[in-house]
Amino acid sequence: MTSTSHPKRAFITGITGQDGSYLAELLLSKGYMVFGLVRRVAFEDEAHRMHRIAHLLDRIELIPGSLESFPSLYAAIKKSSPDEIYHLAAQSYVNTSFEDEFSTMNANINGTHNMLAVYRDLVPQARFYFAGTSEMFGRPSQIPQNENTPFAPRSAYGISKVAGFHLTKNYRENYGLFACSGILYNHESPRRGFEFVTRKITSHVAKIKKGLINRLELGNLDSRRDWGHARKYMEAVWLMLQQPKPLDCVICSGKTHSVREFCKIAFEYAGLNYQDYVHSVQKFYRADSTGQTLVGDPAQAENYLGWRYDLPIERLIHEMVDHDLSLVFTVRQSTKTEQIFNVMT
Ligand code: GDP
Repeated sequence: MTSTSHPKRAFITGITGQDGSYLAELLLSKGYMVFGLVRRVAFEDEAHRMHRIAHLLDRIELIPGSLESFPSLYAAIKKSSPDEIYHLAAQSYVNTSFEDEFSTMNANINGTHNMLAVYRDLVPQARFYFAGTSEMFGRPSQIPQNENTPFAPRSAYGISKVAGFHLTKNYRENYGLFACSGILYNHESPRRGFEFVTRKITSHVAKIKKGLINRLELGNLDSRRDWGHARKYMEAVWLMLQQPKPLDCVICSGKTHSVREFCKIAFEYAGLNYQDYVHSVQKFYRADSTGQTLVGDPAQAENYLGWRYDLPIERLIHEMVDHDLSLVFTVRQSTKTEQIFNVMT
């Protein structure tokens, strides 16, 4: 904490998501007062929509609002009066963004623009973080990618994030604000959504192990990703706002693994052979399967933030499998069997 006596105040958009929940935990552990923007509908379906932050609800303040509504953001920032703003919320599932490009673009670009405008108007002394993504590199011209690699997005999601990145940069440069972007590569955890391939794999491993199913259909097993742990990446995000100057930064593990390797490790950990269960089927192949390798260069994060990613992929996968095994166990013991089981499909 700073030398001032009052605790720092942080405002998070996307607090109910994987990253928001880990970031809220981190900030609480550092003595922050944490405020989160939450859609009104989330309050009507708390058990489902707030399951990642259920254990934090008595220690954080949730403010209803929506990124599309400038007045609601204005009221939320005014109420929370933050020292630090973490803008994480976005429509973020790449596959959906092909199907619903217009809503992805509208929500992500206008939402970020609204946030920046309110920030500049109400709390220009605060620090602002924008959640960029490796999808902004899309089909990269160099391997590995760093902060100087040209953006070449290949999805509506990637395009909307490039726009958000440039909006953030312009607010920094034109108005002298402490606003910066992290360019985060895929980051996973037991809190990852089930539509992402890592969680799809670990949740299926758990159900196969418990004898509930005997097949896992995936797309391209040779796709490679630079996967890291979301909890660890949120430390880098926080560090970005503690520096003397705002600087955009690539946050990554610097290593890639294939979907096949991920499967092998996950199934082996459960005492199974992935080849007995995994089937590569056309319907899960992506329109974006260009064969280009997205892998980050962590040098700037290491030198500038003093942040180093040192978690072996096995540790991440084992944690996810353990969690999903416990979830299946809970499901089988629970009266809410159907409800939870549906979430895991
Ligand atoms: P993304 O990097 O944001 O697209 O994260 P995903 O976890 O959705 O996908 C990671 C990689 O896994 C991509 O290259 C996908 O093409 C590949 N993949 C292979 N099979 C599947 C699948 O069944 N589901 C998903 N989501 N991805 C798959």
